[in-house]
Amino acid sequence: MEEYDVIIVGLGCVGSSAAYYCAKQGMQVLGIEQFPTPGSLGSSSFGETRMWRVTHGSYWKNDMMKDAITLWRELEEESGEELMLKFPVLSMGSLESKDYMNIRAQYPELPKLSPKEISEKYPALHNIPDDYEGLEHENCGVVKARKALQTVTKLTQVKYGAELLFDTKVVSVDKNSVTIEDGRTFYGKDICVCAGAYSIDFDKDKIATRREIEYIVFESPEGLPGGLLEFTKDGNEYYGMVDGDNFKMGEFAQRSIASMKDYFRDRMPEKFTQIKYFHPCYITMTDTGHFQYKTDKDGVHYAYGFEGTGFKFFPLHGKIVHDGLITKKDQTHIPDEYRAKI
Ligand SMILES: Cc1cc2nc3c(=O)[nH]c(=O)nc-3n(C[C@H](O)[C@H](O)[C@H](O)COP(=O)(O)OP(=O)(O)OC[C@H]3O[C@@H](n4cnc5c(N)ncnc54)[C@H](O)[C@@H]3O)c2cc1C
Repeated sequence: MEEYDVIIVGLGCVGSSAAYYCAKQGMQVLGIEQFPTPGSLGSSSFGETRMWRVTHGSYWKNDMMKDAITLWRELEEESGEELMLKFPVLSMGSLESKDYMNIRAQYPELPKLSPKEISEKYPALHNIPDDYEGLEHENCGVVKARKALQTVTKLTQVKYGAELLFDTKVVSVDKNSVTIEDGRTFYGKDICVCAGAYSIDFDKDKIATRREIEYIVFESPEGLPGGLLEFTKDGNEYYGMVDGDNFKMGEFAQRSIASMKDYFRDRMPEKFTQIKYFHPCYITMTDTGHFQYKTDKDGVHYAYGFEGTGFKFFPLHGKIVHDGLITKKDQTHIPDEYRAKI
């Protein structure tokens, strides 16, 4: 009976990174993914780009981002691929928004833009409310999500010799085994489930929940900043970024497609006529908003709960999962070095 060092269930952003890191450290790895590729439509990691930034209200995420940047750069060096683009991201919002004021408080030295200055600089943005303000932070940009997944998958398989199965759905997991749809069982010293929004199918502790969010893709980024975060007075958040030749935007406090359309009609009337499609997708959530790298009572490892913010930490997820497997330390919530900052 062949036994792998680790079997990773789900090869989205987190599982692909975990497979890469474990294989790179010399472990015998089997990765299993239900879709044809990492980051397929249906996973949370679908799409060309994701925003990265060090302007989170949760300071531990800013610390994680700083460590992730080092690993992104190492990955770029190893692969020879450019994966992380750096450019200023515009954060704007109501002075009554807690989230905007949080970012503002972190960077008091940054110049503030009035609504008029924002729309002069970015003419595609209209009707910016009078009580808004904006600031641009330099240490931000986008990561090339699809490219990063392809790059890491190739390294994991070709350079580090891991076995990755696609179009293969896992139906059950145990401490030391994984069974797939056709009834075959694979054995591993450790099993790690990185199933994103599908974690609710496996999570015996019932901590994971999932939420559907909608995003909108339109044709031209012209007249817009490369990345945009908007925080409204009533606690809603819109975020957008260049996505290949397109621009995409999502709404966090998901209401409805109708409410998103209202927003676009008002804020970006020219772009409203260039909408290509609306796209629903799922993300995993937890009650606390903390990431979960943990081991359940039966000894199965999990990594989930990365909400709408997980991709920017892509290479760091793999390192955390790997280190957790080696130290056998239960990393419930987030690892200690970051947890101290909650
Ligand atoms: C629209 C949108 C915009 C976002 N914007 C940003 C952003 O700007 N910046 C940022 O940092 N983050 C962003 N995020 C969040 C980020 O993309 C997610 O946190 C991250 O992709 C989660 O990765 P994951 O590996 O946990 O989940 P997934 O990518 O969903 O991976 C889980 C994988 O497990 C597989 N799987 C599940 N069950 C099984 C099974 N039974 N058998 C086999 N395989 C299985 C799934 O098919 C999937 O591929 C955004 C997310 C969305 C949806």
